[in-house]
Amino acid sequence: MDKKSIFLTLITSLSLFACSSKVPYDVEVKVIEPTCISEGYTEHIQNDGYVYRDNIVPKSEHHYQDLTIGGDDGIVYHICDVCGYLQYDFIEQTFDTNVDIDLNREKPVFTDHSVMPVSMILENNPDDAIIKIRKSEAHGAKGIMVYITALNREYWNINDLQRIMYCTNLPVLAIAYNGNFVGNSVNQSWEDFASLLKLSVKAGACAVDMPGYLFTPNYDDIPTQNTNLKPTYVAEGVDVSFVDAKAKEISLDKTVIAKQQQFISEIHGLGGEVLYSAHVGVQMDCSQIVSAAKFIQSVGVDVAKIVLSGSSKETVIEHLKACMILENELDIKFSVHGQSTLSRLMCPMFGSYIAFCVDEYTDSETNIQIDLATMIAILESPELSGNH
Ligand SMILES: [Zn+2]
Repeated sequence: MDKKSIFLTLITSLSLFACSSKVPYDVEVKVIEPTCISEGYTEHIQNDGYVYRDNIVPKSEHHYQDLTIGGDDGIVYHICDVCGYLQYDFIEQTFDTNVDIDLNREKPVFTDHSVMPVSMILENNPDDAIIKIRKSEAHGAKGIMVYITALNREYWNINDLQRIMYCTNLPVLAIAYNGNFVGNSVNQSWEDFASLLKLSVKAGACAVDMPGYLFTPNYDDIPTQNTNLKPTYVAEGVDVSFVDAKAKEISLDKTVIAKQQQFISEIHGLGGEVLYSAHVGVQMDCSQIVSAAKFIQSVGVDVAKIVLSGSSKETVIEHLKACMILENELDIKFSVHGQSTLSRLMCPMFGSYIAFCVDEYTDSETNIQIDLATMIAILESPELSGNH
């Protein structure tokens, strides 16, 4: 053995000795089995207090019980009896785009339900819209909301619109907002806007969305203008306290309202209903929300829709209180909710008429809207009705 070998042997022996005296060892080993909500693992507690986990085992499958909620055709629900996870499967059908236009059909009524899960349709051509509408109907929607202005302009004619309105027996609400939809930039005058909604009703739509700013000369001025107009209303004994919140989209201008009322009577004359929509862009407390809904009712519409800002739990409580009061004090249907998912989910359970849903998420349909099947499962769940 040469000097170098002796040196290496010595180093090796020393380091082995050093290791064996200092290696921590397990004082306890626990094997945790996986469940459907957490991974399994082996936990080692060592003599020096150090704890580590290894042998990670994937989560187990959920243990489903089949469940029927509301007995909707085309949907099967399964619930895990371990963790309560709810899963639904659609019995998928194929949908064609053939439409039998029966001009003698009895028009479905938009306000005919106690609560209405509505599927929002933003497509740029009639065939895609028809398939989505028929799918939504199969998935349990009770109403359909079609963004007419999402359709390319070539389809803004009675024949194409009729195919869309008659492809379902569900009531269809037509929306004609200016804006940019599925890459389709839309800008039109108030008169064009009103004409497109009238055309939609002539084509078979059951209701139209009339924004509360329709016919206003200057949209952005509404909060300031309303502040100036408030004393006139107060003198007449009308509560317009929503004005103090600087609410947008609800015009108090009587010249504007007269034009809106003319439009409403024309839609009624065509056999359609009118939903007044106000995306107020501010937070409002319960009494302000109630005052806004009562003002909207006084305009002469069939549904008052108010979308509020704010996503805190405090704002949601104001929305829910307003819904409970309006259920007793308003003669027309109302749809009141905030922009938060919590508010969108809960308000329909407290009397708000419309649950705005998305059947299938796409790039143009953001997940701000509640998923249709989830909303239906909640609406139809007796445990969540608040009556137990
Ligand atoms: Zn589970």
